[in-house]
Amino acid sequence: MNETILIVDDEPDIVSLTERFLQIGQFNTITCNNGKEALKKMEDGFSDISLVLLDVMMPGVSGTEVLEIIKAKKEYEHIKVILFTVKSFREDIEQGKMLGADGYITKPFSGNDLLEYVKKILGHIK
Ligand SMILES: [Mg+2]
Repeated sequence: MNETILIVDDEPDIVSLTERFLQIGQFNTITCNNGKEALKKMEDGFSDISLVLLDVMMPGVSGTEVLEIIKAKKEYEHIKVILFTVKSFREDIEQGKMLGADGYITKPFSGNDLLEYVKKILGHIK
């Protein structure tokens, strides 16, 4: 089964790079560049989405706010969330954990590490 992953980041390069790696790993992808659009895409397609790769630092609705909304909705309880964070921002990671993030990836990352981590969070590998 090809699972669907929603990629949310305001940097187009990160989105396209991430999308490419996930497609190599046989995942279906949906992408967007801001939190508002992410929430809209989730409303429309939440039942197909297994995981959200979510940038913390975005203009407008931040990743933290999106995370909070996802984790508060009963219909979204099957959806895992991995935060994209910048290494020096320890408090993003702490806050993310508090709000129920399932994991985090610090930028910059390698394609292999990303794929391995995604598979681990989705329970495909130990
Ligand atoms: Mg950003």
